[in-house]
Parts: sequence; C-alpha cells; structure tokens
Amino acid sequence: MLKKKAMLIDLTLCVGCNACQVACKETNHMPEKEEKALSPTTYTALDEYDGVFVRRMCQHCDDPTCASVCPVGAFTKMPEGPVVYDVEKCIGCRYCMQACPFQVPRYEWSSTYPRIQKCIMCHERLSKGLPTACSEACPTGATKFGDRDELLTEAYARITGEPGKYVQKIYGEKEVGGTSILYISSVPFENLGFRTTLQTTPLPQLTWNALSKIPGVVSVGGAMLFGIWWITNRREDVKEYEQKHNTNHPTNGKS
Ligand code: SF4
Ligand code: SF4
Ligand code: SF4
Repeated sequence: MLKKKAMLIDLTLCVGCNACQVACKETNHMPEKEEKALSPTTYTALDEYDGVFVRRMCQHCDDPTCASVCPVGAFTKMPEGPVVYDVEKCIGCRYCMQACPFQVPRYEWSSTYPRIQKCIMCHERLSKGLPTACSEACPTGATKFGDRDELLTEAYARITGEPGKYVQKIYGEKEVGGTSILYISSVPFENLGFRTTLQTTPLPQLTWNALSKIPGVVSVGGAMLFGIWWITNRREDVKEYEQKHNTNHPTNGKS
C-alpha cells in the first residue's frame, strides 16, 4: 500500500539559513532573489519571531479546502500526499485563495496568463523516489521528509522525550483533518503566527455537515450558495493578510 509522505519541521533546529527557499526556487525554476513572504515566485518563506524561524508553505491538507471549492477541479490531492494544481483547468476565479485556511495560494496578478502558485511538494521528485528539494537542502535536519506515520512517531518521541524543551503538540497532526506538513516547536504555536483555533474536522466536510442540518438546503444550489457565502466572508481576511505580508496583491502597490 502506498504510504503517505510528509515533512516534519522542527522549529528548534531551524537556523534561518534559507537553504530551503533557495533549493525550492532552483527546483521550480524561479528567480533566485530572496523573498520574505510567499509570492507567485516563492513557494516557501521564513518568518522570524524573536530568533525563532518559521517556514511557511502549503500544508498539503489531507482533505484540502482549495480542492473542494475549485469549481473546475484544478487541484488534486495525490495519494502520496502532495496537493497539485493543473493550470490548464484553472479559470482564475481565485476561490482557492479565499478558502485556504492557511492563506497559502498566490496569484500572478501581473501576468498576462495568470496562474495560482503554491508549493506542490515536489511531486515529480516524489514520483521518482526522491525527497523534496527543501528537505534535501536543509543542513540541520529542521525539515525532514519521510512517511507521515513514521514522522508522527518521531515527532511524538521528540516532544515527549524532552517535555521541558518542546510544546506538547504537533501542529498539522489534526488541524482541518490533518496535513502533510507537521511542525514541532519550543514556543507555543499561537505566538508564532499559527492559527490554533482551526477545527480538527476537514473544512469541506464541515461545510457539508452544516448544510445537511438545514432542511431543504441539501442541494447542489444550496451548497454553492453556502460556499459563496463562506468564500465572501474570507475575502477581507485574505486581503488583510496579503497587505500585512506585503505579497503581490494589487492593493499593496506591488505588481
Ligand atoms: S494549505 Fe491551502 S492551498 Fe495548501 S492544500 Fe491546504 S487548503 Fe490547499
Ligand atoms: S516541497 Fe518542493 S515545492 Fe514545496 S517548498 Fe519544498 S522544495 Fe519547494
Ligand atoms: S534549510 Fe532548514 S535550517 Fe535552513 S531555513 Fe530552511 S528549514 Fe531552516
């Protein structure tokens, strides 16, 4: 049986060298310049909180909301873990940007033929039996690639083995139903910009369950209306986040 792959990011080991971003850009043929936030030319970026470096990237959710809201099925969750994107199908509606609970997808606002851009978990490398480029490049082992089950076991061993060092939580184990990117840390996740109030139920399932309790609303039309309502309510969050992180949204003056 195919084992689901993942990455374990141990924030206590990250030294902020940015080798992960450099390797990612090289692998994905992106401009070499260092970027401090996710963008159409940056699939992974480092935030810093008083000397603690935090890698940001697509979480590769087990039940991805980006895929569930995409009206044309441009996103696919691969059995090995990566959530990949098909530009040929994308119609540019950007619902994925509004829906992503981790505010990850970026849009090529300035391009004539804009695409959504986000980490694709090196799915081509994975299909050849290779690890992700960022994990291979990480000099300290802060980013480790492997089987999700084994990485979870290792993460538990690390945090329970040194309870004075680590917060007793693996971020990504259960958030929105579980993700392929797992984090452990010595600083509470809420102090590092992580959303710690996310449901453990996958959001697509949550949406459906909420709908199913409303008599007469369980229909394709109802699902679409609910989806549009939810997406609309996410727009302001996304705009605020992009402005705060100085990403390529036209409202922040960057192209
Ligand atoms: S983090 Fe966002 S973009 Fe990545 S798989 Fe999850 S919902 Fe999709
Ligand atoms: S998994 Fe691959 S695409 Fe994603 S950040 Fe790492 S190197 Fe980039
Ligand atoms: S390569 Fe490893 S140590 Fe360097 S910034 Fe990335 S995760 Fe941290």
